[in-house]
Amino acid sequence: MVIVMKPGVSEQEIQKLVAQLKEMGMDVGITNGIGCSILGLVGDTASVDMGKLSLNPNVDRVMRVQEPYKKANRKFHPESTVVQVGDVKIGEGNITVIAGPCSVESAPQITEVAKSVKASGASVLRGGAFKPRTSPYSFQGLEVEGLDLLLEAKAETGLPIVSEIMSPKLCEVFEEKVDIVQIGARNMQNFDLLKEVGKMSKPVLLKRGLASSYEEWIMSAEYILAGGNKNVILCERGIRTFESYTRNTLDVSAIPAIKKMSHLPIVVDPSHAGGASWLVEPLAMAAIAAGADGLMIEVHNDPLHAKCDGQQSLTPDQFQLLMEKVDKMTQVMGKQRNH
Ligand code: PEP
Ligand code: MN
Repeated sequence: MVIVMKPGVSEQEIQKLVAQLKEMGMDVGITNGIGCSILGLVGDTASVDMGKLSLNPNVDRVMRVQEPYKKANRKFHPESTVVQVGDVKIGEGNITVIAGPCSVESAPQITEVAKSVKASGASVLRGGAFKPRTSPYSFQGLEVEGLDLLLEAKAETGLPIVSEIMSPKLCEVFEEKVDIVQIGARNMQNFDLLKEVGKMSKPVLLKRGLASSYEEWIMSAEYILAGGNKNVILCERGIRTFESYTRNTLDVSAIPAIKKMSHLPIVVDPSHAGGASWLVEPLAMAAIAAGADGLMIEVHNDPLHAKCDGQQSLTPDQFQLLMEKVDKMTQVMGKQRNH
């Protein structure tokens, strides 16, 4: 962190501030330039309140030179994290395809979709049981019964399961029933929830908030890592922009940018990004070409009658065709797909 002092501040005032900073555990280097002095702070600056420092009447500007996240930062953890779920490796050279319906609707629905996506090559089954819906009158999910139906589909297919958690109260039941805990876009900055899943032993798939910057997103991952849970997978799912033709705008730049900023794996959800089934394939190809570690795809056996997100769901046949293309792109990227 760098503090630029106002021109003409006395040596005595500078020393007063330096003493305060040292009391906070910082090492301070002073550079006296023409007209103003610059203080360089070394130490654990993540906990320093920049706002408070800038309130000092002798301070002109305060700038961070290091990111406020340590545990998620690639600088301090150069090797890419690989999250292991059963035999599935997420990250570094592996392409993982997570597939399944937006919501679990019934035993035959989830089991049929699970069998078909497994046959096409998916290695993780998704299905929402607690649904974050814009309208309180829309289908809210089967809740714990939905998790139990996912467990039945897991027993039939061997696929590990991922489902979205919406409340810290549900951590115990999710710890017991799911393999990966999903935090949805709307809850990316639900800090109480982040703290609680940080204490869980299950990996967390953290979706990007509707209008969150890379730094805000990584800071949310930092909450989970700071709680002791090292297994975080980031998921780019499109962001809000001025374009309304598509449901969201897939931010392809997020993939190489996040890889530069963080060691955590990143997967892409083209279904919620585009919001239309015909957009899923081109966005999925773009994601893998840009270096994503995997995909999350909505698949429904009867999209026309889906209780949620039918318009963006692939049929099992469309998913099979997508997987053939994913395999070709995986080869181009010199990676291998999880089976
Ligand atoms: C979902 O994956 O079902 C979902 C609700 O996604 P998002 O949080 O990205 O909107
Ligand atoms: Mn959905």
